[in-house]
Amino acid sequence: MSNTKDLNGRVAVITGASSGMGQATARLLASRGVRVALLARRQDALEALADEIRKAGGAALSVPTDVTEQASVDAAAATVLREFGEADIVFNNAGVMLPGAVGAQSSAEWEQQIDLNVTGAMRVIQAFVPQLEAAAAKGKVVDLINTSSIAAQYVYGYFAVYSATKAYVSHLTRHLRLELGPKNIRVGMIEPGITDTELQGHFTFQGAIDWLANARTSIDFLKAEDIAEVVGFIVAQPKHVNLQQVVIMPTKEGI
Ligand code: NDP
Repeated sequence: MSNTKDLNGRVAVITGASSGMGQATARLLASRGVRVALLARRQDALEALADEIRKAGGAALSVPTDVTEQASVDAAAATVLREFGEADIVFNNAGVMLPGAVGAQSSAEWEQQIDLNVTGAMRVIQAFVPQLEAAAAKGKVVDLINTSSIAAQYVYGYFAVYSATKAYVSHLTRHLRLELGPKNIRVGMIEPGITDTELQGHFTFQGAIDWLANARTSIDFLKAEDIAEVVGFIVAQPKHVNLQQVVIMPTKEGI
């Protein structure tokens, strides 16, 4: 059994690294010896995180990227390859959640969810799979991890578009595992329940804002660091072990 507990020398690309789950995962992987490429739009937040990681003795690269633009993602892939060599971990995590009533929600809000959660996730896969394949061909341990959601499995009022984008991510992940597994690329997804990040701060739909305020009084939300621990666990498995789907919920969250 190969020992992959030591993550030294691995190269991770993390989208959505400027906050929440991506930021926490970057910190955790960097603390375990992974060189981390930080992708998101907010350059100041990425540079602050990269500085923090370097001061702690890690290696980090700030790569400002808009995953809704293929050219931006392709440029990021070229930068990672040049600076760190090919990625062997891709945490495909950037996303947005904007609940709303069908027919009343602005087009901008439902389109943004599809552009980012579906098409953006695909753009990242398209740009980085060649690097994952190259790493696997060299015998390295390789992971593609997509952030889906418990919303992929259940129905929630006014979360139709968001939930459907995550159902896409989960089903895509199953198919990609079938396609890439034979090439020795592990493919998996994390389906978290409610997690305390910036995500809910973008809500404009009053019904969801009220629901959230109420939920906070009865549920201890997951923390971004809880998700980071799961990613750290997945990538540290022996090479022949592929965690395909991890559902992680706050203990008191029902469905
Ligand atoms: P955050 O809002 O904290 O993080 C979202 C990240 O996505 C930010 O870093 C943001 O950075 C980045 N992002 C947004 N738009 C773009 C873009 N166009 N290009 C590149 N990056 C972009 O939320 P979370 O950490 O909670 O979200 C991470 C993932 O987890 C998402 O896919 C979300 O759907 C999923 N999830 C979240 C749950 C929760 O309850 N929080 C539960 C289940 C799943 P920037 O603005 O700098 O671009």
